[in-house]
Amino acid sequence: MTTTFFHEGDLVAVLTAQPIDRFLDYKAPEGGCHLGAFVEVPLGPRKVLGVVWRAGAGDFDYAKVRSVIRVLDVAPMRDEMQQFLTRAADYTLTPMSAMLRLATRAPGLGDAPSMRKVYRLGNSEPDRMTDARTKVLEVLRDYGGLSFTLGELAEMAGVGTSVVKGLVKQDAVFEEDSPRDTPYPQLDADYGGKTLSPDQAAGAEVLRAALQSDVYGTTLLKGVTGSGKTEVYLEAVAECLRQGRQALVLLPEIALSGEFITRVEARFGMKPAEWHSGVTMTERRRCWRMVGQGDAQMVVGARSALFLPFQNLGLIVVDEEHDTSYKQEDGVLYNARDMAVLRAAINGAQVILASATPSLESWANAQSGKYKRLVLNSRFGPAVLPEMTAIDMRSEPVPNGKWVSPSLKDAITTRLEKGEQSLIFLNRRGYAPITLCRACGHQIGCDDCDARMVEHRFLKRLMCHQCGATKPMPTVCPHCEAEDKLAPVGPGVERMAEEVTELFPDARIVVLSSDLYGSARAMKAHIEEIAQGGADIIIGTQLVAKGHNFPNLTLVGVIDADLGLQGSDLRAAERTFQLMRQVAGRAGRAETPGAAMLQTFQPEHAVIRAILAGDEESFWAAEAAERKAAGVPPYGRMAGIILSSTNVQEVFDLGTDMARRDGPLRQIGAQVFGPAPAPIARVRGRHRVRLLVKADKAAPLQQALAQWAAQFKLRGELRMAIDIDPQSFY
Ligand code: ADP
Ligand code: ZN
Repeated sequence: MTTTFFHEGDLVAVLTAQPIDRFLDYKAPEGGCHLGAFVEVPLGPRKVLGVVWRAGAGDFDYAKVRSVIRVLDVAPMRDEMQQFLTRAADYTLTPMSAMLRLATRAPGLGDAPSMRKVYRLGNSEPDRMTDARTKVLEVLRDYGGLSFTLGELAEMAGVGTSVVKGLVKQDAVFEEDSPRDTPYPQLDADYGGKTLSPDQAAGAEVLRAALQSDVYGTTLLKGVTGSGKTEVYLEAVAECLRQGRQALVLLPEIALSGEFITRVEARFGMKPAEWHSGVTMTERRRCWRMVGQGDAQMVVGARSALFLPFQNLGLIVVDEEHDTSYKQEDGVLYNARDMAVLRAAINGAQVILASATPSLESWANAQSGKYKRLVLNSRFGPAVLPEMTAIDMRSEPVPNGKWVSPSLKDAITTRLEKGEQSLIFLNRRGYAPITLCRACGHQIGCDDCDARMVEHRFLKRLMCHQCGATKPMPTVCPHCEAEDKLAPVGPGVERMAEEVTELFPDARIVVLSSDLYGSARAMKAHIEEIAQGGADIIIGTQLVAKGHNFPNLTLVGVIDADLGLQGSDLRAAERTFQLMRQVAGRAGRAETPGAAMLQTFQPEHAVIRAILAGDEESFWAAEAAERKAAGVPPYGRMAGIILSSTNVQEVFDLGTDMARRDGPLRQIGAQVFGPAPAPIARVRGRHRVRLLVKADKAAPLQQALAQWAAQFKLRGELRMAIDIDPQSFY
């Protein structure tokens, strides 16, 4: 590939990650630089990171233009990446500098590769052989001439690091310095494939053919939980590897990756690169660099992995594509699923959107033929879908302050007797969502947000789920000062644990909730242990709904199936449907059939009925018809505008002004709703006001929004965030 090259002194336009909304001209440094080069440039008194974006504009006195300080030792940004960042910025109405920040989220990009100690097989026998020493030497022999870090080697051999050190002293193992950012081990596309069922094989063949076509395309891979979607898309990854192109697999939750990485290793013989918040800084840096120079064939990551500098991207898999965590809700507001499609279109790559319960957006795109559609209809092997039933809570006697119905209790008892696991699902962290004073009726709220404080008994504190603020549990009511009158109202998972312990004193009970773990690693380890049978009853939040395999789990009890149906969110029905089906899918993964029981006060509600009937297509069709009639996504376009300020008057004034001066929006036939207090009207002390814009699907919404917003100056404390295709309406 030929790239534009700038000679020393040529003017180049540099994009920096600093919040200045234009490109800055510099002179190319001694030795020149390529288009796309990562450089260090002077900015005022500072040195900042930037990318040579194009030739300079030459608007300033040449003599006064400063020079690029140096070119960093990393692969230049490719043309596709420049295009991707530009189009993503246009779509999300985000400044380019913020896009570049997303694309350079690795520490020490400018540093020279540092050294670290690695260990490989030495040339003499140790004086004395112990079991531990034998294990170390066996690992090194197994892997031929490869070297490992101390930690890796000790872990692989299952010994302490001192054993390795002891071997070094005797030259049985050599210790050497090696550059830190080493290439990832080669994956072998043909290492360990499973024998696919006819359904799966047909699906894999379609995906392989798509990859061989060498052009962009998106496939919705729909299949019930356990149908083998992962096995099938790993075949597409294998094909991608055979072609020498890179593959990216996005997962919604880092908790997934432990189990997932093990599967990848079993399939391809080695571990892939990982990119998420649980990865160390050094490893992130390595990943970023190796992806950029083509020395990482496969990356498993969270949504931000989409902004890694792939050299030759051939495939992006978005697993559990309906998951809401793909939408980034602060900073740059982007939806990784949509951005994956954009990136692949620019790269001529394939996208696979995998889900048991696709988003209505993807479902509609498949219906209209924009996406291909692959369906895996049955669970792999003997596992069958759980039998779903409703427990009508209007006719089940449950004492005050308790939530487990007699029917659910009986079902759990049966599982305990058979030595099988049960899952009790409640999507509420903490002990109780409300703390109420029984003397005056006061409910304890957050000082800075328009939200109630949630009791976390495990931490012995009250916590605001909006801003994370905590305070100790008071002993007297903060309002009327009555003593001993504060009472918990409603259940959280911690409170469920109390009730379940009373009901089943001999069972091993665990609570799985993201806030109970110090680190992602700890959580991963714990989930693995539970999946292996480390508990009889699991009480969990949304965390457990996502993809984990619990082979011995045969019962799922949903404490409150009605929970998600309240509220004004346009996706409330869709979300409930997806979540309930995902949770139910946890049961009966292996040989024993499972059951899912939904406690509900409205068993005749259309969504609950659709969940029970398992009649997905008619649910989607009905939901689609409603959205179409209302002209809302995916059949219309929407943007949310959140204004915020510490001054409530100021923020309403701006909102009113914006609603009034809506010329650019009216020109494209769009409508403005609001201003209205946002559903959570105050967060971290800032008052929030929301406007909603609705437009036709084909309307040039972004352009109009940009023109509209440009009319208003944000003085002082005022902030404006524009959210294209808002997912949550808080
Ligand atoms: P999904 O991604 O659709 O939930 P998975 O790919 O995780 O399904 O498959 C569910 C389980 O069945 C996994 O444990 C997987 O290893 C196993 N499995 C699926 N297909 C096969 C196959 N062809 N051969 C052996 N095991 C399979
Ligand atoms: Zn708060």
